[in-house]
Amino acid sequence: MNNDILDFDRRHIWHPYTSTTAPLPVRQVVSASGVRLKLADGRELIDGMSSWWAAVHGYNHPVLNAAVTDQLTRMAHVMFGGLTHKPAVELCRKLVGMTPEPLTRVFLADSGSVAVEVAIKMAFQYWICRGRSEKCRLLTIRGGYHGDTFAAMSVCDPVNGMHEIFSKVLPHHLFVPRPRCRFGGEWDEEDIRPMREALERHHREIAAVILEPVVQGAGGMHFYHPMYLRRVRELCDAFDVLLIADEIATGFGRTGRLFACEHAGVSPDIMCLGKALTGGYMTLAAALATERVAEGVCEGSPGVFMHGPTFMGNPLACAVARASLNLLENNDWAAQVARIGRLLADGLAPCADLSYTVDVRTLGAIGVVELKEPVRMAEIQTAFVEEGVWVRPFGRLVYVMPPFIMDDQDLAVLTTSLVRVVAGHRR
Ligand SMILES: *Cc1c(COP(=O)(O)O)cnc(C)c1O
Repeated sequence: MNNDILDFDRRHIWHPYTSTTAPLPVRQVVSASGVRLKLADGRELIDGMSSWWAAVHGYNHPVLNAAVTDQLTRMAHVMFGGLTHKPAVELCRKLVGMTPEPLTRVFLADSGSVAVEVAIKMAFQYWICRGRSEKCRLLTIRGGYHGDTFAAMSVCDPVNGMHEIFSKVLPHHLFVPRPRCRFGGEWDEEDIRPMREALERHHREIAAVILEPVVQGAGGMHFYHPMYLRRVRELCDAFDVLLIADEIATGFGRTGRLFACEHAGVSPDIMCLGKALTGGYMTLAAALATERVAEGVCEGSPGVFMHGPTFMGNPLACAVARASLNLLENNDWAAQVARIGRLLADGLAPCADLSYTVDVRTLGAIGVVELKEPVRMAEIQTAFVEEGVWVRPFGRLVYVMPPFIMDDQDLAVLTTSLVRVVAGHRR
């Protein structure tokens, strides 16, 4: 029936991080609604991934659908050079209002990785325009993930990331060990020492510290102590280094705060947003900067920020993002996330008793089961689909971040299925 689709896919189409010559099986989705994905064979799966952090309101949402179709009848796209429009202005007004107060200048980008490129370029251009062009290195923590484009890759975890194979073509930035103090654990001042020492030694050549606040996502799903972030902010101020917070995964409520920086009560100089920004409807991201950064970038020559994607500020994407942010407020995201967090903690707890589990942790609406060894991907993926849930592990991590609208019953199915699949995945 759908063999033709899957055959063509197998022979001609690249999927994220897959082989074209020996691809793992993919499943054909025909539609999605609420928290359910419908497969071509008629099966329905409860979605534990929110399509990689993005679909916080679930799929096929009437309000988001209306935002797209209304905008479509007016204008699908128009260039952003020399022109502006209400969807972009209203979205940016909202973003400036929601994010920490010093962030006032919004650059709309096409994807998370591009927002990270933009943030890094802003930091470099800021110092060039200030006459400090020797400040052209970045400092980050191991275990990070910032995207797949080149500047972003250069600050991803050097071991799990892409450094090994691309080391000849990547710029060499500075890394310190990832924080050891965990979220919810004791704070130990020793934890900040490597960061402080790196700044003491190299601050004259460092443009910015870039990190994911509190939750390191695709680099290992680590949840670290907010005090670490507070100390990083203090050190950046002391050493005249910018702080870039990559909130692409953590933004918009996922960690239990609207932005993960709020756990530490700090504000970065540049913040990257993406993923849940449009409620998972289409690709859009943003880099927000402070007045100081914006002024620095635009003083002297060339006097303008040197970046401008063709599809910048796409009106369809802006319209649905604006609607998604309104929904977030109207739905009481904080209560939704707190409820999901409690159910994930209870529901995943049995995994901790398995001998091949290293750790089970939850924060906000994120649940992680860390195993001793990498999963066998094809096998575990099939087991999840047979249970009627969509969970996509990577490496040693089996994790879920459900749409905020998932009800208690579906969450119970998701967590019991996950426990069963992990328990049955023993070698
Ligand atoms: C996903 C992600 C990115 C990259 O976003 P894309 O939209 O995939 O380019 C960057 N940083 C973090 C923290 C992410 O989770």
